Amino acid sequence: MTTVTIRLYNSLTNSVEEFQPMEPGKVLMYHCGPTVYSSPHIGNFRSFLLADLLRRFLEDQDYEVRQVMNITDVGHMTDDDEDQGADKLEVAARRTKLDPWEIARKYEEEFLQCLDALEFRRPHALPRATDYIAEMGTIIERLMEQGHAYQVNGNVYFSIAKFPEYGKLSNKVLDELEEGARVEVNEEKLDPRDFALWKTDDKHIMQWDAPFKDGARGFPGWHIECSAMSMNLLGDQLDIHTGGEDNLFPHHECEVAQSEAFSGKQFVNTWLHVKHLLVNGEKMSKSKGNFFTVGDILEQGYSGRELRFALMRVQYRQSMNFTLEGVDAARTELTRVETARKSLARVAKGLEPAGPDDLSAAIEKAETEFVESLRDDLNTSKAIAAVMVFVSDVNKAKPTQEYARAALGLFDRFESVLGVYGPTPEVQEEAPQEAQDLADQREAARKAKDFTTADECRDKLLAMGFKCVDTPTGPRLEKA
Ligand SMILES: [Zn+2]
Repeated sequence: MTTVTIRLYNSLTNSVEEFQPMEPGKVLMYHCGPTVYSSPHIGNFRSFLLADLLRRFLEDQDYEVRQVMNITDVGHMTDDDEDQGADKLEVAARRTKLDPWEIARKYEEEFLQCLDALEFRRPHALPRATDYIAEMGTIIERLMEQGHAYQVNGNVYFSIAKFPEYGKLSNKVLDELEEGARVEVNEEKLDPRDFALWKTDDKHIMQWDAPFKDGARGFPGWHIECSAMSMNLLGDQLDIHTGGEDNLFPHHECEVAQSEAFSGKQFVNTWLHVKHLLVNGEKMSKSKGNFFTVGDILEQGYSGRELRFALMRVQYRQSMNFTLEGVDAARTELTRVETARKSLARVAKGLEPAGPDDLSAAIEKAETEFVESLRDDLNTSKAIAAVMVFVSDVNKAKPTQEYARAALGLFDRFESVLGVYGPTPEVQEEAPQEAQDLADQREAARKAKDFTTADECRDKLLAMGFKCVDTPTGPRLEKA
């Protein structure tokens, strides 16, 4: 059983709290995932990255984590267009003349590729909203039976008046809520703040027979999707729920209302919200030309690790300004870490003479600072700074073989939590000058199309235990 304390900023209480899971040593967490109607952008990924970092760090701290991230493939309606029934998946379907199901699968696939490219540990479940229509129906039916929801012309609304705690997560007061809701007048609602659980619209392409008693054919509201998936896969009560700060209201507020009205229990103990990302100092938008998908960045020649590192260098609750220069800086820093690890690996393998230095103090300091920074509301900036101080310490030292191995072990731990440094670099014996000369001769012969000489050189190299491997930067000698 773990006894360490991790402090997290809980949006529900607006304070930093010591994290206590319901069951000691186990954590149940849910993350609002992508809506699959377009390519995921880097702002979405800053939010998803919190989920992965939290999972990795909790696992490092010996918690057993069960993690669910949903895929919204119905298309969610924004606050503005909810009452008009506009659905982003449907809009995309009309634009591309593809079936909304095809669009959803296409972008789901792209999302999964991005998760892999950015070195995510795959969540234990990645449920699709369309696979949980029946479960949404169960919740809607009970809410109606309890008087928490009502049906008008086939549309089902959650009744805010029956849930006095509405607003407790976002801390919005009644007036604000009413004013916000009055933007769109909907005669069917008893209270302008009521939100849709089920909607009917003949023009909507994705439709289902009502999954509850005496209902009409239609489609679910966005909020109910997350309640159905989280409660079915993790239970009525979750330790942690995360999302972007723009999800806090109305999405998460509505999730709380309908889930708690349904179960009678507190839905989520700790809510974490990621501050949204600015790009070149402004809110990301297609019209401003500062809109980047993950694919856009990878196409510019950056690796998934470099993008991941650039996105995590600022703690999740601080505003972050993304720039390409920032990704370049991430690349430089990753190279510095790689170089330090290579030199340690050479000492550890006996390829380079070991020195007399004891690294125990540097290792202990770096490890403590790294872990303490992350226990402090996942302060990645400070944790990364601790790694860089360690790199300088290592570079200044001439460690013994034993301490070179211990330092490599610590880098492995940094990697397992941050997922940006990769495995310990492969190092091997340097080829002797004679082999290097043969390799140069072979290359010259190949260029002159003298393949007989090139093959002879290759065979001589093989006899010496080396082979030439062609790389984008030219041939390189490796142990055969
Ligand atoms: Zn959600």
